[in-house]
Amino acid sequence: MSEVFEGSFTQQDPIPREGIEAAIRVMESGRLHRYNVAEGEFSEAALLEQEFAELTGARYCVAVASGGSAMATALRAIGVRPGDKVLSNAFTLAPVPGAIASLGAVPVIVEVTEDLTIDLTDLETRIAASGARVLLLSHMRGHLCDMAALMTLCDRAGVTVIEDCAHTMGASWDGTASGRHGAMAAYSTQTYKHVNSGEGGFLTSDDEVLMARAILLSGSYMLFDRHLSKPAADVFEQVKYDTPNVSGRMDNLRAAILRPQLKTLQDQCDGWTERYREVESGLRDLAGLKVIERPEQERFVGSSIQFLLPGWRADQIRNLVARCLKRGVELKWFGAEEPAAFTSRYDSWHYANPEPMPKTDAVLAQLMDMRVPLTFSLQDCAQISRIIRSEVSALWQQG
Ligand SMILES: *Cc1c(COP(=O)(O)O)cnc(C)c1O
Repeated sequence: MSEVFEGSFTQQDPIPREGIEAAIRVMESGRLHRYNVAEGEFSEAALLEQEFAELTGARYCVAVASGGSAMATALRAIGVRPGDKVLSNAFTLAPVPGAIASLGAVPVIVEVTEDLTIDLTDLETRIAASGARVLLLSHMRGHLCDMAALMTLCDRAGVTVIEDCAHTMGASWDGTASGRHGAMAAYSTQTYKHVNSGEGGFLTSDDEVLMARAILLSGSYMLFDRHLSKPAADVFEQVKYDTPNVSGRMDNLRAAILRPQLKTLQDQCDGWTERYREVESGLRDLAGLKVIERPEQERFVGSSIQFLLPGWRADQIRNLVARCLKRGVELKWFGAEEPAAFTSRYDSWHYANPEPMPKTDAVLAQLMDMRVPLTFSLQDCAQISRIIRSEVSALWQQG
């Protein structure tokens, strides 16, 4: 009898008791809106922003309604106008080009390498060809490119970098936290990310003008004074008449749920990476399968794992996905023609009019993806890799 995995790939941890109790207190108070505060009180949202800024080392933070909203707010704060070109990597998820399109701006898609990070040579070419002055860099599935090289290239070309840290909250490159390289960084607190409030996001920056604009854009009316992580009043005076209110606030209920999760974030991240390493070690040295080696400078968060199936045909990969699923293991394939569930490819974003990306196509055609939730034990991870291993071996030998 071949073994079958019984766990769920989409089951996250429960909200910590402390968060549930804080959420109940918010509901009992009735003051769910972040600017609805009692005399002398700072809202859960304002406290959360202060705590997140401290955690990442950013000067300022604003909490918003989603990761997508954080990215769109960053683009607006930076001054992207309709018709402007915005660079982004081809391997990412739909909310990234979606944020660019939401401003009427035009995505300029850049190739990715076999390491699943932005291709710096292609980036340089496309900066020159497009004249784009903003890069929305998505650290997709937690893979960080050489951030020092990227920043040197972008600084030299006068390109402002916004980091999409949806999968790198808690990660770092060469000792610097992810999100601390670019002018602004966007995070998501949606259920499948590293902290969970159902929906939500953060935007961080050290730049006082960008952050004053971001706070106004997030929908602060003229109540920005009730923020704790904010630039001085005179900075708001400079921009408050020129910055539209694009409502996308976080409420106190979500903030209350998130605050205790920040305290345990680093432990949670270590837990993900431990599980990732367990799966990875079970998949090493297997004919027909290539694990993605992580650079030494990268401290990643292993909340999902990717691997390559070089030389496999589409029908073989579809067969592998089906056989693993039968044994309880949910693999996603980035090479499928039709976008499915959370997974869509750059060439399904027709509104962005993407150019063909031969390098990226070759990578996506062999790219497999699997979630590693914290509800899995290390034994679960070992079992999952045994199942993948046996199915890969069987199919690879059949040819
Ligand atoms: C989830 C995600 C986002 C933000 O998503 P929201 O659902 O809007 O919070 C951004 N980028 C990537 C790569 C993501 O996976």
